[in-house]
Amino acid sequence: MSFPYDAPVSQTLFDRASLVTPGGVNSPVRAFRAVGGTPRFMVSGTGPYLTDADGREYVDLVCSWGPMILGHSHPEVIAAVQEAVARGTSFGTPGEGEVALAEEIVARIEPVEQVRLVSSGTEATMSAIRLARGFTGRAKVVKFAGCYHGHVDALLAAAGSGVATFGLPDTPGVTGAQAGDTIVLPYNDLEAVRTAFAAHPGEIACVITEASPGNMGVVPPLDGFNAGLKEICAADGALYISDEVMTGFRTSKAGWFGVDGVRPDLMTFGKVMGGGFPAAAFGGRADVMAHLAPVGPVYQAGTLSGNPVATAAGLAQLRLLDDAAYAKVDAVSAEIRALVSEAFTKEGVAHTVSAASNMFSVFFTDQPVRNYEDAKKQEAFRFTAFFHSMLAQGVYLPPSAFESWFVSTTHDTQAVERIAAALPAAARVASEATA
Ligand code: PLP
Repeated sequence: MSFPYDAPVSQTLFDRASLVTPGGVNSPVRAFRAVGGTPRFMVSGTGPYLTDADGREYVDLVCSWGPMILGHSHPEVIAAVQEAVARGTSFGTPGEGEVALAEEIVARIEPVEQVRLVSSGTEATMSAIRLARGFTGRAKVVKFAGCYHGHVDALLAAAGSGVATFGLPDTPGVTGAQAGDTIVLPYNDLEAVRTAFAAHPGEIACVITEASPGNMGVVPPLDGFNAGLKEICAADGALYISDEVMTGFRTSKAGWFGVDGVRPDLMTFGKVMGGGFPAAAFGGRADVMAHLAPVGPVYQAGTLSGNPVATAAGLAQLRLLDDAAYAKVDAVSAEIRALVSEAFTKEGVAHTVSAASNMFSVFFTDQPVRNYEDAKKQEAFRFTAFFHSMLAQGVYLPPSAFESWFVSTTHDTQAVERIAAALPAAARVASEATA
């Protein structure tokens, strides 16, 4: 496909980057490989808008892949960061900010009795798995195809996100030993989970699942799926780990737990809780968390864990996320979803707009999407044409048909009008696209 517009400054930066960094990016999905063209190098963000190095402005529907739920450069978050930075950037000691952030998480999310702060979602899931294994004395881990839990060796089997985007079966560098204890099952299939537990009684340490998956596109759990997982785990003595790195503090004040009320043994968080900085966490039952060092024998640590600047940003963001903020994000999400669906319907494009509270994505199929196999059956080539038309018209979408779109409290009427204005032409090119 040809790109009828260019981004010369981004192209120059990308050429420079490609000489010193593999693929020119520090995280694969940023590279536009699935859609082609030049990744835009962004220089600033304000509210719902990003500005690239060529001076072009975009309505941002990626929101840094979830964290920027208050939009870019929120004045109160920036002020909290400036205040924290002025006092120093890292002490390697405990500090009050991390206590306050942990208290905020525990107060919001009832199953979290104790929490440990880390710096990335990957660290959070890696540590939660280690803890589950240490607590149960068992080795095996159940995960679902299309769910992404960060680039943890044991969890990269049939993962979503970039692994889905690039169609990688698994990744070289993960040994048989590291992946051998991972059991990968189809999502939304409780029978498959029961069968796996029957085949490995007393051997499974935990089931880890995205609370509501967003890494194969948005594929919410069917009614009773998460509750069923919890029940099967409890009956066998395994732990139920709900990965809320993406949904946490986004899909409601208490994340997906606030939506379905199913009580996990352990939970993982990231993205929104860092306010745009590297802060993440895992937490849950106090008796399980008590197995962590220095209280218990399961080792886990981090030089920058609970960093004072990151915790200040996260705390400022969480404190601004009240009921009114979530109502706003939910409403604008519904508005954009309706506009997207209307545009595709007008052009006769088979599609499903799939939502989990304010997270959503478009599948280019009118068949139900309940798992990764279903998601892969969509006509993803239509997304490529759609993506580039939206980009050319100043709307920045995730550069993959297998990622959630994200909105913020700052996506106002003006931003929505810009999206609405771009959609008809983009839907038309999607309808004309060929594989
Ligand atoms: N878990 C889920 C559900 C995620 O969506 C992600 C990242 O997208 C991760 C874990 C990994 O988080 P990080 O990229 O901060 O390592």
